[in-house]
Amino acid sequence: HGVAGILAVQGAFAEHAAMLDRLGAPWKLLRAAEDFDDAIDRIILPGGESTTQGKLLRSTGLFEPIAAHIADGKPVFGTCAGMILLAERLDNDPNVYFGALDATVRRNAYGRQLGSFSTTEDITTFGADGVPSGTISDFPLVFIRGPFVAEVGPRAHVMCKTNSNVVAIQQGRILATAFHPEITSDTMMHKFFLTL
Ligand code: GLN
Repeated sequence: HGVAGILAVQGAFAEHAAMLDRLGAPWKLLRAAEDFDDAIDRIILPGGESTTQGKLLRSTGLFEPIAAHIADGKPVFGTCAGMILLAERLDNDPNVYFGALDATVRRNAYGRQLGSFSTTEDITTFGADGVPSGTISDFPLVFIRGPFVAEVGPRAHVMCKTNSNVVAIQQGRILATAFHPEITSDTMMHKFFLTL
């Protein structure tokens, strides 16, 4: 295994690092373009504020190497704001960031009451061929003003729904969740990400 690069310009990056520590997986925080090196074989885009993260991705010079990593088909895992950064289409925001995930995402669409809640669901994982490869059972879903998935295109696969809303998506080696697996004690989503 190589090293997981965790975008650390803003948001919940420390929680992802703690999760990888529990799995014994090496990681490195990405704060500046120089932090990106050849040892990095996968990237985590944490929750936070996507607009701020987008600006900092540009000003640090991290946008280009991360975009190239994704374009090469290498693994990337976006949680919450990270899902927004990955989406090809945002329907209430003029920005598009990495534009890699075949989905339309709406920011802050659940409103104040529904925006933050917890529940439990099964999650389907997919193989490289897009065929279901397994199930992560009873995974805790914690939402903090998470994005609403308005539409999933044909290149992407729904891993999980709750209340009939899509909340986790896989597209090859791209994983995106509207919830925050890194702030739970369940390591299964990160463990799956490390297999990609
Ligand atoms: N509301 C945030 C955004 O639009 C995402 C929330 C989160 O990452 N917890 O960027």
